[in-house]
Amino acid sequence: MSDCEVIEEDNTEDDVLKDIDNEIRSIEQNISKLNQRRAELINKRDAIKDKLLLKKSKHLATKNWEKTDFPWYNELKSTLNSVFKLKEFRPYQLQTMNATLSKQDAILIMPTGGGKSLCYQLPALIDKGITLVVSPLLALMEDQVIGLRKLNVDAGMFHAEVDKAESNRLMQAMTDPKSKLKLIYATPEKLAKSKRFMSKLQKAYEIGRLSRIAIDEVHCCSQWGHDFRPDYKFLGVLKPMFPDVPILGLTATATSKVTIDVQKMLEIQGCIVLKSTFNRPNLYYEVRAKPSSQKECIEQLVELLQNKYANKSGIIYTTSIKECGELREELRKHGLRVSGYHAQLDVKLRSSIHEKWLKGEYQAVVATIAFGLGIDKSDVRFVIHHCLSKSMENFYQESGRAGRDGKPADCILFYRLADVFKLSTMVFTQQTGLQNLYGIVEYCLDPSTCRRAIIASHFDETWESTDCNKMCDHCKDSREPKKVDITKHCQSVYKLMAQASSNDTKLTAQKLLDNWFGKGPPKLRVSSVSPPTFSRDTGESILAWLLVKGYLKEDFHFTPYSTISYIRRGLMASKLEQSNHVISMTIKGKSVQNSSVTTLKSNESSLNKSKSSVSLNKNSEFNGKKQNYQTDNCSDTSSSSKSDSGSDSNVIKNDDNKRIKLSEGPSNTKKRKVVLIDDSDSD
Ligand code: ADP
Ligand code: MG
Repeated sequence: MSDCEVIEEDNTEDDVLKDIDNEIRSIEQNISKLNQRRAELINKRDAIKDKLLLKKSKHLATKNWEKTDFPWYNELKSTLNSVFKLKEFRPYQLQTMNATLSKQDAILIMPTGGGKSLCYQLPALIDKGITLVVSPLLALMEDQVIGLRKLNVDAGMFHAEVDKAESNRLMQAMTDPKSKLKLIYATPEKLAKSKRFMSKLQKAYEIGRLSRIAIDEVHCCSQWGHDFRPDYKFLGVLKPMFPDVPILGLTATATSKVTIDVQKMLEIQGCIVLKSTFNRPNLYYEVRAKPSSQKECIEQLVELLQNKYANKSGIIYTTSIKECGELREELRKHGLRVSGYHAQLDVKLRSSIHEKWLKGEYQAVVATIAFGLGIDKSDVRFVIHHCLSKSMENFYQESGRAGRDGKPADCILFYRLADVFKLSTMVFTQQTGLQNLYGIVEYCLDPSTCRRAIIASHFDETWESTDCNKMCDHCKDSREPKKVDITKHCQSVYKLMAQASSNDTKLTAQKLLDNWFGKGPPKLRVSSVSPPTFSRDTGESILAWLLVKGYLKEDFHFTPYSTISYIRRGLMASKLEQSNHVISMTIKGKSVQNSSVTTLKSNESSLNKSKSSVSLNKNSEFNGKKQNYQTDNCSDTSSSSKSDSGSDSNVIKNDDNKRIKLSEGPSNTKKRKVVLIDDSDSD
């Protein structure tokens, strides 16, 4: 065989190999596409199934559960008066009791303080047997058992700190038909770990003495909730073990996701779901731009505590133990009576701090989320979030500790992009951690929607815009929302990230912002990307928007000391490949009350003011019919705006059918231009 023939033969085999490789690749691509489609369909199917079950649940709830001709009604009412010394049922109490006494599985969703406990305590006295109450915290169980005993109701709890004699008495009473024991409280851990207890429960069931299982704080079953407890998973065994015993789940967490998840976990899909409103009319909700310097932030807190909230009681929530300690020290330096509360403090110290706060010896507690379940002080006048919460759920629960007495109270959240990453690096390992976090970031970024409306929609409640009664920053100073096109900015950011990547550099959000605004190593800059003429705060808002909308995503890296969040292209990046794809961001429009006014106020100064809204606050920029004008310390921008008007990807129509453009300017200018372009000025 000549050399020439060998080469020829090799060539043919090379070609065949290439063909095979190509075909394999094509098959793999098809498999991947099909798998993706399959996953999409499975998700869709599950979502529809869930929706149908929830519909069934809600439909079941529409039955007239409030009627008074159930056979137990008279006894129920008289026991309410004679034992509990209460005159009337509160909303949803009678419905819930009727449903559970009808042996239906049910979930009651009601805000904290609404009176959920009575919904199982009172039926427990009507039924012959005993009610098992599963509760996540010793303190919660203790409060209830003490309260019931004061009312001469025989109740007890299982806990490590309960003495043997009492726990033996309870065990024995569970299966003794003559016993007067009505309620037993246990933690899910007790159920999961004590075979003796479970077997006793089974015996009680067999002789018909297990009347009901109430599961308090039932959202702890769900990873979508804010207090997920792995031991709550064990409660899934209860329905299969005791199929005839009605389960009553109670929670103040109201999203459909959590409800569905809880139903699945407890194997009570499609059960009755009773839900009362989540609107807290006396709470004033506000989001403020958090100053970039801690000193300024402290000054604002001091100002609030010394003036507006002087002699009033409140909570300041923060994220980390370290920050909790620092804030406490700083506030004390200003002579304020505050203390700190976090999980690492000794239990005794914690309850003494709690006690002093209850008595008013401390004006405020600077706390991590460890200051949570079971806190019941009625006259909390302010809850300040020094850093955003982990989720809307958390925020609602935490801020909801204000104003339990029904009198006005404030819920102020200080927002800054940097805080998002403090939290994201903490929550990203949780299944739904990032999704939940971005939910509250959207709440902070929203420029004009009623804060209550956002909370209501989060809890799947219908909402009338007038319901707020000007009890949020957005309704108090009503603005029309406007849309601006930020596609070009997203493209710029992508270019900067690509440049960094080709230099083997990963960018955190702060580094990316530095780079975008012309700081940091020159090798990371891109000649076609000029630093924006708008402020860094605006840049931060754009990055946050791109993040929550999926155009950017966080990529987490562990170091021995911390977790770092780097910014990368998000799943939505592929959309930008379509030439007509527009990313629009909603910003503040003109004042609704003051719509005729066309004053040109500097937005940036208002962004930096303590009371400024955190979202892009270009209200006056879009006021009236100005063609264009500048903000910041700007001089005339009409010339540059003209040249910008040619860029179609950066223009979007607003509600007035005008086209708005948020532009990046020539490098190193300190101007921000927001341009309103007449339709005649077409692309
Ligand atoms: P939740 O568990 O929903 O947070 P609780 O069950 O702890 O609320 O009840 C909160 C307060 O409301 C308790 O002090 C309780 O005595 C009171 N309460 C409950 N039901 C009624 C009622 N029907 N009338 C008056 N007060 C009630
Ligand atoms: Mg409760």
